[in-house]
Amino acid sequence: AILADQIAAGEVIERPASVVKELVENSIDANSTEIDIRIEEAGLKLISVIDDGDGIDREDVPMAFERHATSKIIDRQDLFRIHSLGFRGEALPSIASIADVTLSTSTGGEGEEIHISGGKLVTEKPAISRKGTSVTVKDLFYNVPARLKYLKAPNTELARITDIVNRLALSYPQISFSLTHNGRELMRSAGRGDLLQVISGVYGISNAREMVKVEGQDDDFSVTGYVSLPELTRASRQYISILLNGRYVRNFQLTKAIVNGYGSKLMVGRFPVAVINIQMDALLVDVNVHPTKQEVRINKEPELMELITKTIYNRLASENL
Ligand code: ADP
Ligand code: MG
Repeated sequence: AILADQIAAGEVIERPASVVKELVENSIDANSTEIDIRIEEAGLKLISVIDDGDGIDREDVPMAFERHATSKIIDRQDLFRIHSLGFRGEALPSIASIADVTLSTSTGGEGEEIHISGGKLVTEKPAISRKGTSVTVKDLFYNVPARLKYLKAPNTELARITDIVNRLALSYPQISFSLTHNGRELMRSAGRGDLLQVISGVYGISNAREMVKVEGQDDDFSVTGYVSLPELTRASRQYISILLNGRYVRNFQLTKAIVNGYGSKLMVGRFPVAVINIQMDALLVDVNVHPTKQEVRINKEPELMELITKTIYNRLASENL
């Protein structure tokens, strides 16, 4: 089963940032209000995610490391229909097969701690713990040298981790996130539900008035969010985030639609800071794309593009912004 887990890991866990994403999404699924992420050496030495969520029942702890044991969803379409982010039951067993993992958890009462290394159980014992779960992943890919070789420079891997945590923080303004690397805090969000505040924190925008609120809708879509003033743009598309029914996605056409909303106000090579949340019927999402890749195709995409462009354009025109 270790080999099967390692093969599955190849698909789910490409790099340290994948581990961070999977662990944090588990914490979000567990109704956490505070999620603290600690990283050492760009995640290769240590990734630790501590949450204050529901925890795992003591007797269910080993099951969490069994592949597919937790699979909740049969149909990929469900990905956008239901609230939970996890759906394959592959992440924990995959990670545990290629690293040294300790999970400590409590649902409120006596907790449980399990230590698995390279897919093999080392210890499992009762543990004192406050309500919530902490997962510590050490020496990622220690037994997969080919994967280690394929990784980019530490700074690049760290940038990917930061990017994922930033986008999760933008997707869940009501959850407080913190990210620390080698003891230095890289980001923190307040978790007070204020999207504008999260945007300011994540992108270091000191004056929240640099962002304007946008809102628009048609029969199929509702579009809300914040975009930066035309003169406060950046040199990269990096600062554009699109959330589909609250979930971060990548979509080139929708990114373009946001940029197009600036019309001639945007200088060549400049891009806005933008967080756009699209609400739509999940049935309009074409999920014939690998779910972990975050790429989606949308039916009626031209209509949605037009709505996004028009909403931003009209807003910027309304007060001569
Ligand atoms: P999935 O998220 O697809 O169900 P995972 O392998 O990511 O699969 O996690 C396995 C199971 O372990 C989850 O379904 C959940 O029940 C439990 N679990 C993992 N992390 C946490 C956490 N931080 N808090 C509570 N339960 C967790
Ligand atoms: Mg999961």
